[in-house]
Amino acid sequence: MPLVLYDNYTRSLREFAPLRPGGEVGLYTCGPTVYDYQHIGNYRTFLFEDLLKRVLLWNGHRVRHVMNITDVGHLTSDADTGEDKMEKGARRTGKSAWEIAALYTRAFQDDIRALNIVPADVLSRATDHIPEQIAFIEDLERRGYTYRTSDGIYFDTSRQADYGYLARLDRAGLEAGKRVDIGEKRNATDFALWKFSPTGSTRQMEWASPWGKGFPGWHIECSAMAQQYLGDYFDIHCGGEDHIPVHHTNEIAQTEARVGTRLANFWMHGYFLLANDAKMAKSAGEFLRLGALIERGYDPLAFRYLCLTGHYRTQLNFTWDALDAAATGLARMRAAFHALPADAGVAPDEDLLARFTESINDDLNAPRALAVAWETLRGGTPDAVKRATLARFDEVFGLGLADWRPKQEEIPDAIRALAQARVAARKAKNWAEADRLRGELHAAGWEMEDRPDGYLLKPRGKA
Ligand code: AMP
Ligand code: ZN
Repeated sequence: MPLVLYDNYTRSLREFAPLRPGGEVGLYTCGPTVYDYQHIGNYRTFLFEDLLKRVLLWNGHRVRHVMNITDVGHLTSDADTGEDKMEKGARRTGKSAWEIAALYTRAFQDDIRALNIVPADVLSRATDHIPEQIAFIEDLERRGYTYRTSDGIYFDTSRQADYGYLARLDRAGLEAGKRVDIGEKRNATDFALWKFSPTGSTRQMEWASPWGKGFPGWHIECSAMAQQYLGDYFDIHCGGEDHIPVHHTNEIAQTEARVGTRLANFWMHGYFLLANDAKMAKSAGEFLRLGALIERGYDPLAFRYLCLTGHYRTQLNFTWDALDAAATGLARMRAAFHALPADAGVAPDEDLLARFTESINDDLNAPRALAVAWETLRGGTPDAVKRATLARFDEVFGLGLADWRPKQEEIPDAIRALAQARVAARKAKNWAEADRLRGELHAAGWEMEDRPDGYLLKPRGKA
């Protein structure tokens, strides 16, 4: 059952095969800009990328995953104007740009853990790779792709006939309609490779370069770090859909200019999470952090479940009702899984595994894979087989089904006391008393199941 993925570069569904047969799959995913907390929209994209990675592993591939941390150079406007988001964040918080980078990188890593996202093999900071970015720009300069303005070194997009192919950009239209002030730029689509520190004020983050003191543009970090860790041409590059027209378009332009490849074989994008049918953006001031969900009592994995209910190539509207429904779905799945007897000697059901693979290999159709999981739980397969099958599915879902335990406080003290009395009766081989206590528990609405490692208490009638 081949793995088929949607590649935005060719705008087509393509069968995936690693560039190096049998070798590691190179995966680069654009990481967070750490001037603030990430919002749950950002996490929808990181969860899509995690799903992709888990599906690659499911298909027997080994994966080398690189993610960058943008801690410099991402300006408040994609048109290379405005302030560096990091410097702005520093002013907002009264901390240094370096301090907020460390603070929000840590917060990102905490959230990733809470969402059960497998961390990247390489998490690389832009500020740790300034020499590589300078070397990249020097190479572009030698090849005649750059020019200088009073505020920086720019990439001349008119040098590439196929500039903007990923986004199918209408370049003639963009040029004709460039009523917006493009300053000293030669073409509307040209972008900064290196920005000079403003005269008269000191930036917190700045470096010496052959062109003067300053800082790298946002796009060059990804081209430079991707090349450094994954080579000139690797398997898959991902980000959110907003990256298509500018960030990824420019990454491709730079790398094509330097080494002649489009950087990655597949370009995949996660579509947006909307809030009240509108774009969710950090820059809009008001946004939902994962912490806000936790404060309201939601398990972060309920958000993961919610994301699995929508295909990554459709936008998903966030509402509290939708999150409630996801939380209920997750709770039911956990309880149902937990109630199934574990038997290490039992193999998963091959037919169900095949149906599951068919779903996820169809461009990561998680909603359909979830439906297969529910059919498995409701179907007539023996319970231990159900459990073994679900445990395999969860390698892809990442819902932590096997790790989940009912909250202890949900079991009343009196019920716990009856259960412990029954354990003692069984130890003393007082079977009549053990049966009597089981009956008493049953009457109180609880089912007690003996397990090798103790016992399990389940409210009666609940899955
Ligand atoms: P940033 O921290 O802004 O660099 O964004 C981190 C990731 O989140 C990028 O891949 C963005 O494309 C993605 N992203 C931004 N906003 C959203 C959204 N509302 N829904 C889904 N992904 C988003
Ligand atoms: Zn990037």
